[in-house]
Amino acid sequence: MDKHKIENSCLHQKQPAGYAAGATQSPVYLSSAFAQKSPQEMANVFQNRQFGYLYTRISNPTITALEEKLVELENGVGSVACASGMAAISLVMLTLLKCGDEFISGNSLFGGTYSLFTEVFPRMGIKGVFVESTDVNAFEKAVTENTRAIFVEAIGNPKMDVPDIKAIASVASRYGIPVIVDATVVSPYIFQAKDFGADLVVHSLTKYMNGNGNAMGGAVVDLGTFNFKSERFSTDFDIYNKKFGKFAFLAKLRKQIFINLGSCLSPQNAYLILNGMETLGLRMERHSGNAKILADVLNESGKCREVRYPSLSSHPNHEVAKKQFGNLFGGLLCADFGNMETAFAFMEKLEGVLHVANIGDTRTLVLHPASTIYHEMNEGQRRVAGVTEGLVRISTGLEPAELLVKSFKAALAQI
Ligand SMILES: *Cc1c(COP(=O)(O)O)cnc(C)c1O
Repeated sequence: MDKHKIENSCLHQKQPAGYAAGATQSPVYLSSAFAQKSPQEMANVFQNRQFGYLYTRISNPTITALEEKLVELENGVGSVACASGMAAISLVMLTLLKCGDEFISGNSLFGGTYSLFTEVFPRMGIKGVFVESTDVNAFEKAVTENTRAIFVEAIGNPKMDVPDIKAIASVASRYGIPVIVDATVVSPYIFQAKDFGADLVVHSLTKYMNGNGNAMGGAVVDLGTFNFKSERFSTDFDIYNKKFGKFAFLAKLRKQIFINLGSCLSPQNAYLILNGMETLGLRMERHSGNAKILADVLNESGKCREVRYPSLSSHPNHEVAKKQFGNLFGGLLCADFGNMETAFAFMEKLEGVLHVANIGDTRTLVLHPASTIYHEMNEGQRRVAGVTEGLVRISTGLEPAELLVKSFKAALAQI
């Protein structure tokens, strides 16, 4: 879908009749449960013979409005919104994998995802095999008869590597394995996962989708491209395939996992995220523009051992990134100052930025990954994740570029 259509979808409701009393915003249904008119109707809704709402842990009209919007933006068949990005990743993996199954994951992962995959899933007998995210052959070599998912991030954080999703998807489809892409750092405005062969997309809506840093949320979108009747999945998906057809995956996710784990999103947060999403396009343009300018400032300063941002022609995956993202590369960049002291000195000298462990806020945020999110990792794990001692992660906000450049140049001059 082109960028104009995405911006339009972010702004306008699909429902032809609109909301009650001509409201331009989705109403917030702060109701835990919903009444039906009769016992017969109640039975019909429970048995999926009639559409209706029962209980907010299952579904809620404000959350449905958000899910419908996500389906439009990703060109999918359906979506389930949930409490956080971590909930979304847990749900998609637990729907696909059971005890004894394996998944292959790129090794450049968000810290929370890494600890879910290495500390929680092994306790359930679900085994993760980690490969270099940009090494397509490594994904193929890791496939076994028990592999039931391939997971990658659109841009690794903080390594900033960009996997070739089309190439990975082509390997996966030969073996009948679905590809899940965590597209949090790019959003559908920059990256249309379906065009590159992904089957399932997960988002932390907490970050760029909302963009205002005021609500947690996550979502899974099924792009409708994977055949769950295939040999690898048919037994586990049988009853859902029969009953729900092309909605089998999300029906299984919602009924078997989501409801029972209690991973529902608050309707209040769904409203805030919907509201934030209205300006997704404008924000991604500014976030990306600011990041590109700061990457050049840092690169040209001669003060950094390495600057990681996919717009730079020195970036090892620059060509793949251009193919996948066009000319926008998001608001996340990293600079390596060689050691922690210099990194801290640089961060302390920066004016008008916040020291925050988040990304995708309206304000520019900086963080030293090695002493924070990754402090519990050993040397080897940090190397794999691209976390060096002198690395500073920057999440550009929406400030005017001139102000950021001034602040960055002044800080660079002092170290
Ligand atoms: C933040 C983040 C998550 C987790 O999302 P939460 O909403 O914090 O649970 C997952 N993946 C990526 C890439 C993230 O940046």
